[in-house]
Amino acid sequence: MPVPKIQFLKGVGPKRAALLAELGVDTPRDLLAYYPRAWQDRRLPGDAEKGAPLEEALVFRGKVLSARELRTSKALVIFKAVLSNGKYEVEASWFKRFSWRYDVFASLKKEVREGAEIWIVGRPEDALFPGRVRVEEHYPAGPAAEAAHVGRIVPVYPLTEGLSGRFMREAVRSALAQMGGETPECLPEDIRSRRALASAAQAGRGIHFPGSLFELESARRRLAYEELFLMALAWGIKRRQLRAVEKEHRYELRRHLLTPFREALSFEFTPSQKKVINEIFDDMLSPRPMARLLQGDVGSGKTVVALSALLLAAENGRQGLFMAPTEILAEQHALTFERLLKGLPVRWALLTSSVKGPARKKILEDAAEGRLDILIGTHALIEESVKLKTPGLVVVDEQHRFGVRQRAALRAKGDRTDALIMTATPIPRTLALALYGDLDVSTLTGMPPGRKPVKTESLNEEKAFREARLAASVGRQVYIVYPLIEESGTAGLKAVTLEFERLREVFKGYTLAVLHGRMKPEEKRKVMEDFAAGRTRVLAATQVIEVGIDVPNATVMVINNAERFGLSSLHQLRGRVGRGAHESRCLLVADLRADGARERVQAMCSTTDGFLISEKDLALRGGGDPLGLRQHGDLDLRLADLSRDSALLRQAVEDRDAVLEKDPRLALPEHGPLKARLLALYGARWDLIELS
Ligand code: ADP
Ligand code: MG
Repeated sequence: MPVPKIQFLKGVGPKRAALLAELGVDTPRDLLAYYPRAWQDRRLPGDAEKGAPLEEALVFRGKVLSARELRTSKALVIFKAVLSNGKYEVEASWFKRFSWRYDVFASLKKEVREGAEIWIVGRPEDALFPGRVRVEEHYPAGPAAEAAHVGRIVPVYPLTEGLSGRFMREAVRSALAQMGGETPECLPEDIRSRRALASAAQAGRGIHFPGSLFELESARRRLAYEELFLMALAWGIKRRQLRAVEKEHRYELRRHLLTPFREALSFEFTPSQKKVINEIFDDMLSPRPMARLLQGDVGSGKTVVALSALLLAAENGRQGLFMAPTEILAEQHALTFERLLKGLPVRWALLTSSVKGPARKKILEDAAEGRLDILIGTHALIEESVKLKTPGLVVVDEQHRFGVRQRAALRAKGDRTDALIMTATPIPRTLALALYGDLDVSTLTGMPPGRKPVKTESLNEEKAFREARLAASVGRQVYIVYPLIEESGTAGLKAVTLEFERLREVFKGYTLAVLHGRMKPEEKRKVMEDFAAGRTRVLAATQVIEVGIDVPNATVMVINNAERFGLSSLHQLRGRVGRGAHESRCLLVADLRADGARERVQAMCSTTDGFLISEKDLALRGGGDPLGLRQHGDLDLRLADLSRDSALLRQAVEDRDAVLEKDPRLALPEHGPLKARLLALYGARWDLIELS
């Protein structure tokens, strides 16, 4: 059956269809899935069940007692009407630009004439005279207006230039009239009744034009559940798919690499590292491919855990990939590998986009011929040209910087390889479940011994620089962080390249360097090497240093315009100090008047616990889009809100388990619609081969 085009929906036409297409709406069905961003309670106060409107606006229905046109200046004309509902009178005003060529109020005069009954929606012109209203919308009283625009709870849509809220509401109403009756139900009946969920048809209507706040919430709850359930189902199936295959190789603990590696380390693994390594080794030694998430706060020591896993693979003649989100971090890892693997018969190489020409060719050949055990790199590792002869393990560092799709692409390097995904953004449980529902989870608790928690303070620049100089004078190194690379016109924000000359003055007598994302890779590498080796005392940088950089002698970090960074970024940045035995400090130079700045700074000063920080972050950012998940492109959640709907998510996961237990391939007829919906949403994206 051909899909009806939105253009042919009543009142739309080709021009608006093109605008709708910009919003991703091509069919009436798309339109129905284009959910409001908010709702306005435009019921008259008398029949409202609850007093407060969802968004401030005055709604009034009355008879026009008088109407007149005023010309106050050359440019402006005003149309004023006095309306009465028998009890109150309101003076309503419309403002327009004057025109010599035509009467700007011609159509208004027809509608708003003496004796006519109309609705207005607007705002008081002046708080002192609430009876004077500047009109934003008006409608002749009658069922047409009351069905969509006034006297009820109305939807507020995200708009685009050329599409009005009025048009959107009418278009959605027509789409509902056309399609509403045949809204397919994808949720199984028993789940709907157990969870007391509205039907798809009820919810589809109620999310746009709810008859009451209760109906609105029940529609939202149903649709949010559906989103979460489908997502959970996709992971569940993915996970089963993975569990069903067997690796083509078996591992043994040979220890000819692991033991010397461990002996050469300058420290002992912490109990938590040992436990996590055991979990990983158990997975790797089992016939099924590993899919494990390793969570551990910044500085908790994930790298050596990953390295242990890579060595277990190497001991067994299997190759490993170690993927980092930035070139700087990949290079940093290469330095670490060089140090920790010295003298061991392990062949490894670094592959980033700046490795070119013959060098690149050689690495690719060595990887394909099995002459390399470990390949460290950036996204470059995902590329088609990177082939491994005996793929065994894929490690993804700082996973929060990558999306599910990249993860999937990497896994495709060998679909029977083990995968270890690492993240330093400790995620509250519900979020972890939402983001990584298809993974087992290991958590590194605590820090390597001897660490002193970083002291965090909010200071002015002068004091912060004084502290930094003090540290430099006793041989420590410092980071000075700025939000921008160059001037951008954003008032009050400092840029690293512009401040650099001043820093030279402030830190006279010490070596300084700049690091930011727009520098050439070789330059970046040089700067990092010099800093890591202690040849540079002061590093002025942008957020590029946020992840992974590990220089134990750096003990002070000054973060300028700290108000501009989100809480989890601040925490990540702070993780660059406090990596050695020396007392470290993080100094926040912030404009506390900025939105939410005080709360974030306070949170940073009061704890160094990444879990507390991320929960605080979630709470401060509130609903909507915690952690910027929407940009992630991972989750297609439009109504579900992970911070608010955690109970719903738990139910969805429970129900998912029950469904897959009974019908792992969704082959039962009662699961037909569910399967169709799931494949439409996630089939291609998540490669749910088993189902199709
Ligand atoms: P992250 O988990 O943030 O990736 P890293 O792996 O970079 O942390 O480790 C941070 C620092 O802690 C590194 O210098 C590393 O060598 C050191 N480290 C790791 N494990 C231990 C340990 N058990 N004892 C002492 N230092 C350790
Ligand atoms: Mg790390």
